[in-house]
Amino acid sequence: MAQLLDGKATAKSVRGELKREIKRLVTLVERPPQSVFIQVGENPASTTYVNLKHKMAERIGCVSTIARMADSITQDELLECIQRYNEDRNVHGILVQLPLPEHIDESVIVQAISPRKDVDCFHPENVGRMIIGLPGPKPATPLGIVTLLDAYGIDVKGLNVTVVGRSNLVGKPLGIMLLLRHGTVTYCHTRTRDLAAECKRADLLIAAAGRAGIVTPEMIKPGAVVVDVGTNFIPAVDENGQPVLDENGQPKQQQVGDVEFNAAEQITAWISPVPGGVGPMTIASVLSNTVTLYKLIEGVD
Ligand code: NAP
Repeated sequence: MAQLLDGKATAKSVRGELKREIKRLVTLVERPPQSVFIQVGENPASTTYVNLKHKMAERIGCVSTIARMADSITQDELLECIQRYNEDRNVHGILVQLPLPEHIDESVIVQAISPRKDVDCFHPENVGRMIIGLPGPKPATPLGIVTLLDAYGIDVKGLNVTVVGRSNLVGKPLGIMLLLRHGTVTYCHTRTRDLAAECKRADLLIAAAGRAGIVTPEMIKPGAVVVDVGTNFIPAVDENGQPVLDENGQPKQQQVGDVEFNAAEQITAWISPVPGGVGPMTIASVLSNTVTLYKLIEGVD
C-alpha cells in the first residue's frame, strides 16, 4: 500500500518557512514583499485560484492586491496596467491568472510581465535561466512537484522518469527540472507509440495529460513513485455507480487526477492524491517565487 505524497501538509510547512523568512527579511528591507494578482473577467475557477493565492500571500506576510479587470478590457489596456506594476518600486511579484479572454494574446501578456517580477515563471527569459541553472523563479507547478519529492526524501538521481505531457506550463519544464536532478527522463505525448510501455519503465511516473484515468494500474511499475498532476472534473457517482446529485438536483462534479488512484495506491510506493497533492504545492511555489524575487530585487539574502 502506497504512502501518500501529501501536498496539503507539505504546502503548509513551506508557507510556515516562508513566513519566518519574510519576518527576518523585513528587518533588513524597508518594505515587505508585495504581490499583485490580475484577473480578467469572472471565470469562477480563476476567481477561486486568485482568492486563494491572495489569502495565502497575506497569511505569510506579503502585501497582496487583487486587480480585477472587466472581460471587455483591451489587450493594450491590460499591457498598460502590467507596465504600471512593472515600474512600481513597491511591487515584487505580478501574476496574470490564465486563461484570458480570446481577444487577448496570452503569450504577449506573459512576455509583458517583467522577468524580475514573474512569479509564475512563464517568461521565456526565466524559463531559459532555469534550464541553465541560473538563480531566479522556477515554473510554479514543476517547482511544487520537486519540493514535494524533496519533502519525502525521494531522490531523483538515476531514476527512470516518465513525464506524460509536454506543455510549456507543466510537462516540459518539469522534465528539465528532473533531468537537472539527474533523472533519466522520457517525455510522452499524443504521438507516443506505446504509452503503457513508457509508463511501465518508470521508477518515477508523472501524469500531466489532463485526461481522467489515462494511467491505469497495469501501466505502473510495482513500487514506483507516482505524481498525479491532472485536474479533471467528472460526474460523481456513488458506491452503486449511480450519479450523485447536488441540492438543486443537478449532477455533482468530482475532481480526479489522470491516475486510477484506488487501484494504483495498491501497487505504488508513493502516490500524490487529487485533490490535495500537486495543487496546494503550486500555490506554495508562487509564494516561494515571490520571496525569491523580493530577495533579488531588494538585494538581500
Ligand atoms: P495541456 O496544455 O492540455 O497539455 C497536456 C499534455 O498532455 C500535452 O502535451 C498532450 O500531448 C498530452 N496528452 C494529452 N492527452 C494525451 C494522451 N491521451 N496520451 C499522451 N499524452 C497526452 O495541459 P497542462 O496545462 O500541461 O495541464 C495538464 C493537467 O495538469 C491538466 O489536467 C491541468 O488541469 C493540470 N494542472 C494542474 C495544476 C495543479 O496545480 N494541480 C497546475 C497546472 C496544470 P500533445 O502535446 O501531443 O498535445
